[in-house]
This record gives sequence, C-alpha cells and structure tokens, in this order.
Amino acid sequence: MDRDMLFAGYNFGPMVSHELLKNMILKNTRKIAPFKGIVYTGLLAIMACCTNSSALAQSGHVNPWAPVEVGPLPPIASLTDGMWLKGDLHVHSIHSKDASNNSVAKIIAFCKSVGMDYIGITDHDNHVNGDVAHNTWADPEFKSDSVLLLYSAEWTTTRGHGNAFSAKPYDHQRLYDVRDQRDVVVGAVKKELGIHLSANHPSGKDHFGFSYDMVESIEVWNSAIWSKNANAIMIWDDMLSSGRKLTGRGGSDSHHGTPDSPDKATKNSYQAKANYVGTPTTWVFAKARTTQAVIDALTNGRVSVSANPYAPRVEFYADLDQDGKMDMMMGDDAKATGKPVKFRVQLTGNTSPDSTYKVSVVKNGDPFGTYKATGKTPVVEFTDTPATLGRTYYRVVVEGPPTAYPQVPGSMALSGNMVGLSNPIYFNFDPNF
Ligand SMILES: [Zn+2]
Ligand SMILES: [Zn+2]
Repeated sequence: MDRDMLFAGYNFGPMVSHELLKNMILKNTRKIAPFKGIVYTGLLAIMACCTNSSALAQSGHVNPWAPVEVGPLPPIASLTDGMWLKGDLHVHSIHSKDASNNSVAKIIAFCKSVGMDYIGITDHDNHVNGDVAHNTWADPEFKSDSVLLLYSAEWTTTRGHGNAFSAKPYDHQRLYDVRDQRDVVVGAVKKELGIHLSANHPSGKDHFGFSYDMVESIEVWNSAIWSKNANAIMIWDDMLSSGRKLTGRGGSDSHHGTPDSPDKATKNSYQAKANYVGTPTTWVFAKARTTQAVIDALTNGRVSVSANPYAPRVEFYADLDQDGKMDMMMGDDAKATGKPVKFRVQLTGNTSPDSTYKVSVVKNGDPFGTYKATGKTPVVEFTDTPATLGRTYYRVVVEGPPTAYPQVPGSMALSGNMVGLSNPIYFNFDPNF
C-alpha cells in the first residue's frame, strides 16, 4: 500500500506534499517526546503500588477489606494451668422420640464407667415443643456426682440442626420459637441467651442450614463412621479459611442404648454396640473441672477429637521463639512475626508403642506435609513461617492402629484407622472478625 492510499480520504488540501506531511508527523512526535519520561515514571509508580498491595487495583479501587496488620492479640492462656477433660457432645436420651433404651441414668452411668468427665445430652427440642427445661433437664435422673452435665439440646429446625450448650439452665424455648426466622433474628436471640451454638452434621441430611456467623463450633466428626465426615471437614476448612475461628468438635449422635432385657430390644438396638457415648470423644483443655470451663474451652478451641475414650489424644503445640519451650496450643491465636515457628504434634495416652502413626498437617485448607511418629509417646515436629500479613492456620489429622473400645466393640471397624484430629493453631486471626 503506498502513502496516498494510506491517507486516502484525509483532506490535507491540495498544497500538502508528501514531504510536508512527513515533517508534520515528525514534529508532532518530537512534541510528545519530553512527556515520555513522566508517563513512564507514573506507570512505574502504579505498577509498584499494585505489586506492594493488592488493595489498589488497576482502576485505583481500594478494597477496604484487604488484609491489614492485626492489632495486638489477647495474651495466650497458660499451657499448664488447666486439665484435659473428655466427653461426648451429642447424645439422645428417651426424651427424644427417635431414641430407644437410653434413659438419662443409663447414659450418665455409662459415662462414669468409661471415665467421661462431661456429657452433653442433646435431645431434639421439637419432640417436646422446645420445653427442654421441663423434660431432659427436669428428669430426676439428670444428676451426677462425678460427670459434669451440660445444659444442652439439639435445636431441630426446618433448616437443619444445631446443638446449644450452656453451663447453666437457659430459656431454650426462645431459641425453639425463633427457629424459622431469619438468621439476624435467630442470632440476636442466641446472643441474648448467652449460649454456645454449634453446627451439627454440617453436610447431608438435616445439615446446619444457618449462617456460620452465629456458631462457635462445628461438628466435624459425627458418629463412629469417620468416613462420612469428609464434607464436614471441607466445610470446616472453608469457614476457617474465610476468617472464622471455628472450633471443630465431635459428637456420637447416639440414640440407642442396650436394652435391659431382650423383649425391650428395638430394630435399632444393634447400634449401641457400634455407635454410643464416646464415638468419638471430644477432649477439652479446661481451666477448671466445671461445666463453664468445658464450654469456655470449647469456644476458645483448645479441643481435639479422638476415635473413642481410650484412643490417644492429639495435642498440637507451637514454639514461637524457637527456645525449645512451647508457647501456644491448638485454639490459640498469635501474631506472625516473620520468623520460623516450630510445631509439635504429640499423642498422649493409650498409644501403641510398636505401631506407626501417620500425622497429616493441613495448612490453610491444603495438605502441608505428612509425617510418621512411633514410640510410647509419638511426637512429630516441623517448622514453617506463617505469613506476616493475612491469616494462616495449621491443623493435624492422625491415623494409625485403632484402639479397642470393649464397651462399644463394633465402633473400631467404623472409625477404621482414624485416631484423632486437632483444632487449628491460628496466626493473625482478627478476634473482632
Ligand atoms: Zn441432628
Ligand atoms: Zn442428634
């Protein structure tokens, strides 16, 4: 294409020669040249901004929610001033219509026989029109000289189930009455009642269909059948990754006790030998042997879950300053310093010294590493540097030889090699999230 063709249609006038046109173009280009440096510097500045912070997008939009440095976090509680207490947080007695051969006295006596420290009997509130106070809690058998009894109930609603836990009686009727309202209404009532609310069996039938903003914990291990909890774990990781400091807990959800005589057997009585109190068992590191301390530990996440009351307990610690002394445990939240952190996973209790345990570490919802642990007190240590800006969490899952639970002999086959799991150790989680 020649130049005449290129500029065809432009009216340069009859007097404009090719040479003149060339000079005009060159002159204009030179006019722009002095500004080139300024434009280039400006571009560099914008690029540097984008690289340094994701807050400023190309359009200059600033995301007010972009990660910022967290303010001072509350001090980490003592790692020694407390005690490990074990229990089950989801059990149905005869006050649930779908339960059988499971009186309150039978549950409490069983708890005592297997060394449980606390129990949350969580009957379906809809079976008593919300009046838990005059049913489960008013049952003359609802008493114990050794087992801590939580005031609890399973909030059984159109949109799914959640467990309410309290150290003292509360007006559960109000929570029942509000069950079909919007989350903002439910959340306000829950807050007024001062209860710990927990999302039950979060995936599948009757899954918790409310906002996770109004719960303190989630049932990540429901019943002895460990394999069916995969989706619950996925939801937990999603909630953790999105900034919610949400405690993972267990619950057998057992409904059926062993009949006192063969004629009292039901079609579900077989379940008592496979899934009962303690499958799984939830351990809490409580400041005292009180119901309030159990619930506080549950809220703050110093919690791990084991396949049964005799299985080893998973403990997860972190040494922040590399002085060989652990500074925090699961549930604790610290500010990341940019320095490497040493983590320790420890199995305590009834370990099998000749066996090998597989410890899987999850970081921010993704696999981080797999380690092997052996010996009487199996320990695994690893090091990582949590990001200084933005949240990081680590949690562990331990697999290995099943531990016998003679009182519930069928549970071993259902939990398989799953030994236990920890709650996360948190970095830069905003307490005011
Ligand atoms: Zn349920
Ligand atoms: Zn239930």
